[in-house]
Amino acid sequence: MVAKASFFSNLPAYARSGQLISWYPEIAPRFLCCPRKMGNGMSLAELLASDRKTIFFDGAMGTRLGELGLEMGGQNNVTNPDAVRDVHRQYAACGIDLLITNTLTMNRVNIESHKIGVDVRDVNLAGARLAREAAREGQYVLGDMSSTGKMLKPYGQLSEEDAYETFREQASLLGEGGVDGLIIETMFDLREAVCAVRAAKEATELPVMASIAFKTAANGGRTIMGNTARDCAEALAGAGAVVVGANCGNVDPLEMAELVSMMREVTSLPIIAQPNAGKGTLVDKRLVFDMSPDHFAGGVEQCVKDGARFVGGCCGTSTAHIKAMVELLTPHPSAQ
Ligand SMILES: [Zn+2]
Repeated sequence: MVAKASFFSNLPAYARSGQLISWYPEIAPRFLCCPRKMGNGMSLAELLASDRKTIFFDGAMGTRLGELGLEMGGQNNVTNPDAVRDVHRQYAACGIDLLITNTLTMNRVNIESHKIGVDVRDVNLAGARLAREAAREGQYVLGDMSSTGKMLKPYGQLSEEDAYETFREQASLLGEGGVDGLIIETMFDLREAVCAVRAAKEATELPVMASIAFKTAANGGRTIMGNTARDCAEALAGAGAVVVGANCGNVDPLEMAELVSMMREVTSLPIIAQPNAGKGTLVDKRLVFDMSPDHFAGGVEQCVKDGARFVGGCCGTSTAHIKAMVELLTPHPSAQ
């Protein structure tokens, strides 16, 4: 049986328990990312300032690891480093610009509350190293960060000070590991995202990007906490993010393009769009994303038309999706 699933259908229970992150392994199998010093000699900051129109991220890590029979998550950086490096290499071969480390939820609060059993320092340094080892000349590595999995007070138990400290620690470790920049993504709570951006900026001198997971593109775009796309773009820019945008969430690529348009109206910063391969369908209690690579690439093309400069894939995307995206959106000299 295949049932239509709302990406956020289970959220209220998790939100009440303060264990929002516990459903990440099923709904956000994108635990990995990307690279730093360019072979062309350009730093990430210089790339940002360049006239490059469209810049490519990689695709999902978690689903790829799942296909290898591994549990998704950053702990693989320590327990199965060869598999993680291989997935990075497969994406690096797709003609992308930025690899994202496999460190999405590898902050101290999440590791300890979920008893993941890895050392926060080891797992983040390994994550940075593996992506760096896979990066090709001209590719950059971004250190990946996301939620602590706990709601901030007064909705949950975590103080903003403790959240800030755990983000500061992870950002510092990723910086030490040699990433070119940081990306804070798959954030459902704008307040937590702003906290993470500020902490990351305090911890390092690296460029910090920030991306929100939206529940819907309707009503001005809404997070589960009720913030609009405009709210998010303005607040993240105000916190010091150099690139803002959207990834994951309960929206398809065309709906994400609508969110990009809304953000474009309120910020001149570069905008990220990393949609899932469609909306998830519940199969055997797991969300499956089955949009074809060509269909996905067409949706990302619309995101670019609507103002996105940084594009990639989130849940359910594979090297086929990323190749299709790069192929469609890379200018071909012969066509000019
Ligand atoms: Zn996702």
